[in-house]
Amino acid sequence: QRDFEQRFRLPHITDIFEDAVPIPSTFCLKMRTPLNGDFPGNYPSDEEWHGYINNNDRVLLKTIYYSSPTSAGAECIDPGCNWVEQWAHRAGPREKIYFKPEEVKAAIVTCGGLCPGLNDVIRQIVITLEIYGVKRIVGIPFGYRGFSDTELTEVLLSRKVVQNIHLSGGSLLGVSRGGPSVSEIVDNLEARGINMLFVLGGNGTHAGANAIHDECQKRRLKVAVVGVPKTIDNDILLMDKTFGFDTAVEEAQRAINSAYIEAHSAYHGIGIVKLMGRSSGFIAMHASLASGQVDICLIPEVPFNIHGPHGVLNHLQYLLDKKGSAVVCTAEGAGQNLVQKTNATDASGNIVLGDIGVRLQQETKKYFKEIGIHADVKYIDPTYMIRACRANASDGILCTVLGQNAVHGAFAGFSGITVGIINTHYAYLPIPQVISHPRLVDPNSRMWHRCLTSTGQPDFI
Ligand code: ATP
Ligand code: MG
Repeated sequence: QRDFEQRFRLPHITDIFEDAVPIPSTFCLKMRTPLNGDFPGNYPSDEEWHGYINNNDRVLLKTIYYSSPTSAGAECIDPGCNWVEQWAHRAGPREKIYFKPEEVKAAIVTCGGLCPGLNDVIRQIVITLEIYGVKRIVGIPFGYRGFSDTELTEVLLSRKVVQNIHLSGGSLLGVSRGGPSVSEIVDNLEARGINMLFVLGGNGTHAGANAIHDECQKRRLKVAVVGVPKTIDNDILLMDKTFGFDTAVEEAQRAINSAYIEAHSAYHGIGIVKLMGRSSGFIAMHASLASGQVDICLIPEVPFNIHGPHGVLNHLQYLLDKKGSAVVCTAEGAGQNLVQKTNATDASGNIVLGDIGVRLQQETKKYFKEIGIHADVKYIDPTYMIRACRANASDGILCTVLGQNAVHGAFAGFSGITVGIINTHYAYLPIPQVISHPRLVDPNSRMWHRCLTSTGQPDFI
């Protein structure tokens, strides 16, 4: 805990709290809910009651007690550490704030790929900043690139500008990969007088945000850097879910259903759908579970063979024989050992994956042709249609709460943190921990086994 306070608080935080500014009353819960039972310590009187988040409030990272190491799902978040004692700071408005709103110049930047809900988060950050009384709010165009490209000027943001942006997908500010160095970005922050930076992006963007935070600390700058994790793959450690994931699973249903209709309406039809998920198969797993129309679900975490007596093709042949049609749902990162390695990287240095969807399509066609069985193979890749969607209702709410809490976190004087939902509660987490590695589907988890039960697929190994 002390480590968190030292590393993720802005300099001179203790001095500042001496004359910290009162928070706007909108963020104070006016209702007092009577509690049954004992409140730890004395229950506050009506006069004392304020309803802000206390800085010592905590969110437990695990709420389940595994009675044995062989229980399904039993794993330690941090080996060697007792999970019972692992918790995060509770997100939300503090009674005293670190920044004087009139001295704040806030900037928002969105990086990486598109994800449903980006506009909802931008919108909510702007609205919340305005309620705090911040007058200078800007958007950095096209990701980190907007910090170095002199052709790109910052976008002035206000409630009026962002009022309806959540009604469409994409990002009002634009996104990009690659871009300037961290010291260039911090030079630029200084030059523009930005002292609050909200960074919306995935693991790469967060690595950048963390480096910006470190550089600001090194220069003793009072700049709050707060991230909001944008990963449609839902691959951020500890978080119940990240925004865009729900929408992606929902939209994926349309693609799976189309694949099913195509397969079902054809003689010996096979529908193959490729969904997002570079290293984590959450979208493919959840979409398969939700649709109930998938016969084979392939994810990066679970190795499989295409050929051979236990391979995917052999099972497809069995399905055609038994049911007359079949639907395959694969994550983009699945079976990377079975596709040609490209060695190519994108502007941010991410490895360009081999196309497992196309590979499955080609191998399936070839296989049935060779054994002289008619098969009608249809391939659907809905990736860009899904990414560009506007957020659904559930993601809309998540984005709203995350956006508000990002602003509360910055005003509380946190920096180098990101905000997420953990065990249904909103919390602030140190960036290095959450991006240390991607969250993966545990092949021994109940959920993956539920998926296998639902598809009825065997092991392909
Ligand atoms: P997505 O999930 O869509 O891939 P991402 O945030 O991981 O999102 P990237 O393209 O990998 O997307 O990175 C976004 C930005 O972060 C880029 O501008 C990139 O230059 C920067 N970035 C990536 N990794 C680092 C790093 N280790 N240090 C500093 N900046 C980084
Ligand atoms: Mg990434």
